[in-house]
Amino acid sequence: MITATWTSTRGWTNPSLIPYGPLQIMPNASVLHYATECFEGMKLYRGISDGRLRLFRPARNCARMRQSAARIALPDFDPEALRSMILDLCRTDGPKWLPDTPEGRGKFLYVRPTMIGTDAALGVQRPKEALLYVILATGGVKSGGGGGLRLLASNEDTIRAWPGGFGYAKLGANYGPSLVAQGEARSRGFDQVLWLFGPSCVVTEAGASNFFVVWRTPESQGGRLQLITAPLEERIILEGITRASILDLARERFAAPGAGRESVEVVERSFTMDEIVQARREDRLVEAFAAGTAFFVAPVSVIHFRGQDLDVPTAAGDSGEYAKTIKQWLVDIMYGNVDHEWGVVVTEAK
Ligand code: PLP
Repeated sequence: MITATWTSTRGWTNPSLIPYGPLQIMPNASVLHYATECFEGMKLYRGISDGRLRLFRPARNCARMRQSAARIALPDFDPEALRSMILDLCRTDGPKWLPDTPEGRGKFLYVRPTMIGTDAALGVQRPKEALLYVILATGGVKSGGGGGLRLLASNEDTIRAWPGGFGYAKLGANYGPSLVAQGEARSRGFDQVLWLFGPSCVVTEAGASNFFVVWRTPESQGGRLQLITAPLEERIILEGITRASILDLARERFAAPGAGRESVEVVERSFTMDEIVQARREDRLVEAFAAGTAFFVAPVSVIHFRGQDLDVPTAAGDSGEYAKTIKQWLVDIMYGNVDHEWGVVVTEAK
């Protein structure tokens, strides 16, 4: 792993590459009492045809981690320095865990940069000491079985994030409190929670992923195809890097009609469960999917909302056509099937 320490008087020390192992922090360390922690999640991909290692838009993760750190009173840092620490770790340890073998190609490692407040002081105050580290993990999060994700809509008594809160930041404090609802969803046979907000049941995120719907607007509004996802302005969702990439690609590639395909309008606005239910009732709901590093682009087949299962169409077997197309665009970039500036090649140590 790579570690770097910070103190309010000396600033950051040079990062060091050390063997993975336990951390030494005091029992009264800030992170253990006041949740002064933020993290990132990205993947290191082994190219399918060229066997090279790539990260997907790592600069965006570093920029987001700065924002998260600011929200939880952790120190600022040079995002380019973090990016280069991540690349160094991937260069050094990537080949060991993700060898360039026929089986290794098309696989990935998970990269987890983390920052914690380490001051040994129980006073409720901004940390004066912090530790930043980056670890790698093999394996991945299970993205549900075949047949699409089954989502359980959250109840009004369990809110993931709220205006003025910290849902837009990647803080550990967002995740611990979601585990009860997640556990309940699992025990009832669902894969993830669909997080709703407020009495009008605004749709925000699905598990630890952003959530997208493709629907047709009512005839009275033009009957146009739209790809819709929650907006960033209220700061109650995380600005996913997968989300941002999907929006960019969809705007670029779905705007004009394609071969046998209509144009699709890309919309970021608040939308509610009632709108989804109505679209389904009027046969205007085309598909829905979750998108994020962990689950990648995962089609949704069911949303359980207020005691009823809402079946979400999946035109192409297990997936909707749009989710399938978008997923392939991203696979091509992440695994180097196409050359793209978002796929950052990690040159390996020989
Ligand atoms: N929303 C939440 C709450 C998340 O934890 C994540 C995962 O990181 C995402 C969305 C998706 O973000 P990204 O596409 O950057 O992985």
